[in-house]
Parts: sequence; structure tokens; C-alpha cells
Amino acid sequence: MLNRLNDITDFVHQLTHRIHNLFAPPGSTCLTCGTRAVLSPTYPGICTRCVKQIPWIRSIRCQRCGRAIGCPDCIRPHMQNRSFICNRSAVQYNALMKEWIGMYKFRGHERYAPLLTSLLTQAFQAMSEELSSAVAKENQASVAHPATSALPPVDAGFHPPSPRASTYARVQPSSPHTSTVVRDQPQAATRQTQSLLQSPKPRWRPDAVTYVPVSSERLAERGFNQAERLAAGLAAACRLPVVDLLQRRINTAKQSFKTRGERIETMKEAFSMSPGAIDVLRELHMRGAASKTVREHTSPFRLLLVDDIYTTGSTLDACGRVILNAAASSDIPIEIYSLTLARS
Ligand SMILES: [Zn+2]
Ligand SMILES: [Zn+2]
Repeated sequence: MLNRLNDITDFVHQLTHRIHNLFAPPGSTCLTCGTRAVLSPTYPGICTRCVKQIPWIRSIRCQRCGRAIGCPDCIRPHMQNRSFICNRSAVQYNALMKEWIGMYKFRGHERYAPLLTSLLTQAFQAMSEELSSAVAKENQASVAHPATSALPPVDAGFHPPSPRASTYARVQPSSPHTSTVVRDQPQAATRQTQSLLQSPKPRWRPDAVTYVPVSSERLAERGFNQAERLAAGLAAACRLPVVDLLQRRINTAKQSFKTRGERIETMKEAFSMSPGAIDVLRELHMRGAASKTVREHTSPFRLLLVDDIYTTGSTLDACGRVILNAAASSDIPIEIYSLTLARS
């Protein structure tokens, strides 16, 4: 009797579903605008009309922070010593992106995760292409002039008219953690020539991905760390290891009552290495070094730091600083790059 009743319920359910499909327009409901439409095959859950609204950062004006507009921030003297080499962001933080990120971050709509990850992955691919061609140019330059350093001095004020075509290396900071290994090796130029012959297409690829942590208080409130989820999604899509390196001691968001100076000081203290993190980094570095070519073997460990929004870059800088210091005291040569979903 019960089985029969279940069959009837199933039949009615299927029938109503079919009738609904018969009258509804084709497609599915778009996650972001709520209209029924054919969904994008590339960006999970959204319609093609919403895809067109994505404010991609297509041309980069500031090579250091990845801004699409003229950037007065990065030319300030105190910005020269940033812990990360450069930042790239997928989109501009406009009202629409504020809404999408907010739906995920503050309202916990899990369905936004694949969409936001796909935006970040797209930006990662663009970043890889850009930096790979910079690495190739850098290598060509050092082969042509083996006596000169691969990295020319910093010129952060340099804003090329055609940013994507410019040489990335021109604005690379000459910070102590950048390629010192290559410079200190007398045979480095010869080795580079040899490895160039072996691998004609040098690629920029991070050795690992990490993320900006949230405080335990914030984690309890939201139930997840959006930066960690984004990093994990990107790492899975690009087959990169994701490492948990940092912990947040102070919730820096709640310090609006403090002066600018006090905020900077608090930010310096906000992050620390997670217990055992340096061992993880060392292990990855050793493992990576063993599988690399001669040139790559001498190159620093490349770490990609992920966050959702880049506003002033001070959070990323503070995170990077903690990692740089820890790596330096353990003799791990490291380069930190940053990738964020949105640039405000
Ligand atoms: Zn839509
Ligand atoms: Zn900038």
C-alpha cells in the first residue's frame, strides 16, 4: 500500500516537473540575476548576460599592484619595500562584484564559490602568461649580456602606455629576497644558457599557493575563510599544492578608532607563522628543488598569496613580510606573488 502511494507521489512529481518545464523558458535560473536563461559554460551558475557584466581588469596600468587605472599608491617611498613582488587581480571591485563577493563572504551562499574561483583561475592564467613572458625576456637578456644582472633597478613610477606589452622586469623591486641566489653564483650565467637550451620555454609557475588567514573569532562567525576556499579552488584547478602558513592573531578589521600609525603597527603584529609552517615550506622547497632543472634549482621558491580583495595591499604586505622573515631565518630563498579576486 505504502509502495503504491510512493509510486503515485513520484508520478505526480514528475508530471508537475514536466508541465513546469513545458511552460518555463529554456535554461536554468541564473545565480546572480535570478532570471531564467541559458547558463554560461565557463562561469558556473550565471547567464551570458551576467558574464558580460564582469568588470575584468584587462589592461594593467600599475605593474606592481595590478591596477587598471593610474596608481599614485605604488610610487610612494614606503611602498618600495613591499614583501610581494607584484599583485594581480581578476576584476575591479565595483558594485556588482561587491554584491557577488558579499553574497559568498557574508551571507554564506556556497554556490558562489565555483563562480568566484573560476574568475580567480582566469586571472591566474593571465598572470602566468604575463610572468612567463617576462621570465623568458629576462633569460634572453641575461644570455645576451651574461655579465649584467637579470633584474634591472626598480622604476615603480613607470607607467607604460601599453602595459601588457611592457617588460615586467623593469618594475621588479630589487629587494633582498629577489633572485639573490642567481646573482651570487659565478657560474649562473653559463648554467642559465645551458638550461635555456634544454628548456626553450621557461614558465613562471608558483611552487605553492597560500592565503590570508582570518582570526578565529571571524572564522567562528562565518564558518569558513573565503581566501582559503578561493586558494584551495585555484590550487585544485591548477594542480598546485596549497599550504596553510599563517595565523591571524589580531582582527584588524575592528580598529577604525585607531590612528593610521597605530593601524600600521597593529598590522605588523597581526600575523604569525602557523606552528610547523616553516617545516612545510622547507619540505616543499627541497622536494621542488630535487625535481627542477639546474637553473630552476637555483631559483627561489615561488609562493602565491591569495586573498579576496586588494584595497591598500597592507594586509598582503604584512602576510608576505612574516613569510619572508621566517624563510630568511631558515635559509629558504623565496619570492612572494599575490593574486586577488578584486582590486578596489
Ligand atoms: Zn544573470
Ligand atoms: Zn599600484
